[in-house]
Amino acid sequence: MPRMRRKSDLPSKTCAACGLPFTWRKKWERDWDNVRYCSDRCRRAKGGAGAV
Ligand SMILES: [Zn+2]
Repeated sequence: MPRMRRKSDLPSKTCAACGLPFTWRKKWERDWDNVRYCSDRCRRAKGGAGAV
């Protein structure tokens, strides 16, 4: 079963807020090690109020 592996080479993580898996995105290329959440919404949900 031949399989193209271009897009599937991207790393992925599990969101610490909603628990869903998410895949590397271009906007995270500099900060991937620090990314914990799939979206800004999840980061705010777990990040705590007032923390910037
Ligand atoms: Zn999430």
